[in-house]
Amino acid sequence: MILLVLFVIGFAWGTPVDRPLENLGDLPLYHSNLFEGDIAGVSPYADKNAIVDHTLLWPGGIVYYELAPAAASIRNQILEGMKEYHEKTCIQFKERTAGVKDYIRINRYDGCWSMVGRQGGMQELSLGYGCEWKGLVVHELGHAVGFWHEQNRADRDDYIEVIWDNILQSMQYNFNKMEPWENNYLNERFDYKSVMLYGETAFSKDGTSPTVRPKQPDVVIGPVWKKPGFSESDVRRVNRLYECFGEVRPPPPKIPDFICDFESNDCGLENQVGMRGEFQRKYDTLGGRTGYFMVLSVTSSGTYADSRLITPYFGAYGNQDVCMSVDVYMSGPAVRDVEISRQDSNTESIGKYTEVSNSWVTRNFNLKAGREDMRFFIFAALDPYYGDGVVAVDNLKFKRKPC
Ligand SMILES: [Zn+2]
Repeated sequence: MILLVLFVIGFAWGTPVDRPLENLGDLPLYHSNLFEGDIAGVSPYADKNAIVDHTLLWPGGIVYYELAPAAASIRNQILEGMKEYHEKTCIQFKERTAGVKDYIRINRYDGCWSMVGRQGGMQELSLGYGCEWKGLVVHELGHAVGFWHEQNRADRDDYIEVIWDNILQSMQYNFNKMEPWENNYLNERFDYKSVMLYGETAFSKDGTSPTVRPKQPDVVIGPVWKKPGFSESDVRRVNRLYECFGEVRPPPPKIPDFICDFESNDCGLENQVGMRGEFQRKYDTLGGRTGYFMVLSVTSSGTYADSRLITPYFGAYGNQDVCMSVDVYMSGPAVRDVEISRQDSNTESIGKYTEVSNSWVTRNFNLKAGREDMRFFIFAALDPYYGDGVVAVDNLKFKRKPC
């Protein structure tokens, strides 16, 4: 009996490429370590706006690819998926020749996944075991071309109900909504038939309970693997994004500036946990200015205080000049220093101040945003050994243009 079980397991897992095709449905899409199931190469904080960042498009709509040896066995299925693009859009998948630098390498790892848009250099796309269906191939190629998931659109709540209770806890982020300016709708409405829309049971706790329910009656979304390929709207989107056949790409939505004067709330700023103090939003008059500020203070009879105020992440929307600006008030002998740092994939100090002027000073930073979201730390330290002291922060701004 044991031998038989082992034999069966050995047979099932022995040679991945030659395993008989078994229908895994959309399961290979729900690859747990990846952003939104099948999107590789980004953290939830990294650039997630391929279709608003036009530097991520493939020039001339030509997408170069290479098949890894492991993918040779599903070559026909891959070509079938590409044919959908060739017949209905101006996208051309071309086999990479020597010297072509930017290309996708299609391989057969665990699951179906891709990066979104052209990353520069070689980028991998996996069509693992169970991803041989045309719908899944067209879906993954759709990511590579520059599309996100339909269920993450900012307006999705008008069309689908997300049933949070049925979603695996660790997978709930897959249903986060994008900000309106992170997604260029290309003048197309939410589309239940889009090949980029996951099915009703995506990331379901038990695999069968619905996680998504269409709000329109009589709509059945269905799993991606069953989809015949593009919907009509998908075709229009690809053609508009790449300005095929005389189409004009609508401009991406305008990204609002972040401006916080702290008058109505703290705008999502947080104190780093585990430090010896906390910036608090307070109404006060400091340096001739009255209003709400983020304040860290000590009195000479108190204890040492330091804290790091952390801003929200600001989206990366392609390489561009940005301006971060903040008003800082430093007063009293207790103030040791204030240091401002930026963080994306690295953390770097951009300003350190020790001079106590008893007045508000505007600090402007002209920065280059890369392809990753960015946030800022404002650190302050106060030592009551030297007396009283106050550090306050006001008018924090992040704009996508030079200061
Ligand atoms: Zn996907």
